[in-house]
Parts: sequence; structure tokens; C-alpha cells
Amino acid sequence: MTNAYVLVEQIEGRVDPVTVELITAARVFGEVTAVVVGEPDTATAVAADLGAIGADDVVAVEVTGVYNRLILPAVDALHILAAQSPAPIIISANASGNEIAGRLAARLASGVLIDVVGINADRTAVHSIFGDTIEVSAAVGGAAPIYTLRAGAVEGVEVASTARLATLDIPVATAKDVTVNRFSPSTRGDRPELPAAKVVIAGGRGVGSAENFGEVLEPLADALGGAVGATRDAVDLEYYDGAYQIGQTGVTVSPDVYIGLGVSGAIQHTSGMQTARKIIVINNDEDAPIFQIADLGVVGDLFEIVPQLIEEINKRK
Ligand SMILES: Cc1cc2nc3c(=O)[nH]c(=O)nc-3n(C[C@H](O)[C@H](O)[C@H](O)COP(=O)(O)OP(=O)(O)OC[C@H]3O[C@@H](n4cnc5c(N)ncnc54)[C@H](O)[C@@H]3O)c2cc1C
Repeated sequence: MTNAYVLVEQIEGRVDPVTVELITAARVFGEVTAVVVGEPDTATAVAADLGAIGADDVVAVEVTGVYNRLILPAVDALHILAAQSPAPIIISANASGNEIAGRLAARLASGVLIDVVGINADRTAVHSIFGDTIEVSAAVGGAAPIYTLRAGAVEGVEVASTARLATLDIPVATAKDVTVNRFSPSTRGDRPELPAAKVVIAGGRGVGSAENFGEVLEPLADALGGAVGATRDAVDLEYYDGAYQIGQTGVTVSPDVYIGLGVSGAIQHTSGMQTARKIIVINNDEDAPIFQIADLGVVGDLFEIVPQLIEEINKRK
């Protein structure tokens, strides 16, 4: 019998590193069952990788055309498992994870806590609210309480084991199910996913144009193997795509290093990045509020500094 379920996050058929954080958080309950949903022959293929990072059991759910059915296969799989053997369920706090959590909570009549930053053995969890200035504890009911965990909130600790592998069949799609026939390719290229990136280069209104994002920010991100983010003003001005907005109404990031370029530091932005381990900012206004939370602040013109920074980084590679 399992003590907790984790829904495995994947990137292009591989286990997303954020899964280590989910498994680490789930381990407070005891043995962890990792549930991996994918195309035929892909879910079973990652079982050994999941054992190597701490899963005690792996349930592989292999469905043809799984991605065209969006989140429904994951909801079906977790519903079947938790209805048979109830236990806490831990899912990543992203758009699809939160949607899966809500649907599961309705199906299982369980409580759900969204975007938690810590989970305790007594089934309470911690939320970080008001722009990460206050932490609150919340309790959740039901035999299979559901949590979505913010990326970067828990330090992932790998505990190698040999996972036992089982497979699970879920109901086939019916004519009533929504299926997607075509996806537009992602525009992020080879850069890491923003919420889980270890290095984030964020651009604000001070970057000045979409061209400058491409010519100044993206080369810095690529030199450091990081992801690019943007403020809401930069998004509103169409300098960068809205999917990359950091802050209260965007993505929350918690990287090892955040570099803010031409970002003033409004609370709505800093609430989405202030848990970064090191905050470096370049701004030509020495009174910009972002300097108050910076570990390293450089007062200057980003267009003079960033090219020199890239040159120096590349020299040291
Ligand atoms: C309900 C609500 C929700 C919001 N949600 C979000 C959110 O999720 N995310 C978010 O980011 N914002 C959000 N905002 C907007 C937020 O309040 C700010 O307006 C926004 O974050 C400011 O963006 P910015 O720092 O790019 O622009 P600005 O505040 O205009 O700052 C630009 C900075 O660039 C500097 N600069 C200019 N030129 C240069 C140069 N050459 N070199 C170096 N520095 C330079 C300037 O000194 C300035 O400090 C929200 C607002 C509201 C009301």
C-alpha cells in the first residue's frame, strides 16, 4: 500500500527535474508511488530513472495519443488509484497541475491545496502569501488530500532505490472527450522551462524593444544556460510573450540566480521572484526599488554592461 502519489512531470519523454522536488515533499508521508502518464513504451521506459530519484513504486499509464487528450488521462489514472487505495496526491503547481488537482478533488471529494511551498506529515501544508511576505499553514480534509507544490519551494533530495513497476489501464477516450488535433511548436528553443530554471534572466520596460530581448537578453540567457522572463510591462508592450511573465499574475520562479535587467521592482513582479537564491540587477536609476532586494546591484546602462558580461562569461567557458 502506498503512502503518497506523485504525478511525474516530463519534458519531451524525460523526467523533469522538478519531479525530484515532488517526490522529496511526498516522502514525509512514507513510501511514494510515482504515476507516469505517456505514449506507449515511454512511461515504462522512465521507471528506472524514477527509482533512482526516490520512487518506491512506479505506475505506468500508457495511452496512444495521450497528449491530444490533455489532462484527462492523468486525472483518470490518479482517480482510479486513489479511489482504490486513498493517499495524499502531490502534483506540480503549474497550469495543468492545478487543473488536474481541481478535477481530482471534485471526483474524490477530497480537499485541495493549490501552490503550497511545504507539506507536513500531519497533512497540513504551507502557503506563502501577500507577495511571499507571510507564511500560513492550512489543513485539508478527505482520504486523499491533494496538493500542488510550487517549483523550487522544496529542495529536491534524490534517494536511490529500485522502484517496483506496475501498469494501469484507463478508460479509452469517448466521443464526448475533448481532443486536440494540432499544437503550435513551443518558441522557447533549447532554453529550460521558466518555472524550473536554475538561472532566469528577466527583462523589463528598460530593455526597450522586442529586438533588444532577442539581441541582448537571450544571448545572456544562452551564455548562462538560463531561461528568459519578462515583467508585465514588457509583455504589455509586446517585447516578449505573455507565457514568460514573472509575478503576481504570471509565473513564479525560484532559481539559483535571477538577473533583472531594466526592471524597477514593483511588488507585483518581485512577488514572483523574490525567493531566488541570488538576485542580481542592472538598472540605471539608483533609486529603483529592485535594489532593496538585490544581492548584487549594478547602477548602469544595461546596453553597455550586458555585452561585456556575455564576453566575460564566454571567455571563462
Ligand atoms: C493587478 C496587477 C497585477 C500585476 N501583475 C504583474 C506581474 O505579474 N508581473 C509584473 O512584472 N508586473 C505586474 N504588474 C505591473 C507592475 O505593477 C509594474 O507596472 C511592472 O512590474 C513594471 O514593469 P517594469 O519594471 O518592466 O517597468 P518600469 O517600472 O517602467 O521599470 C523600468 C526600469 O528600467 C530601468 N531602465 C530604463 N532604461 C534602462 C537601461 N538602459 N539600463 C538599465 N535600466 C534601465 C528604469 O530605471 C526602470 O527602473 C501588475 C500590476 C497590477 C495592477
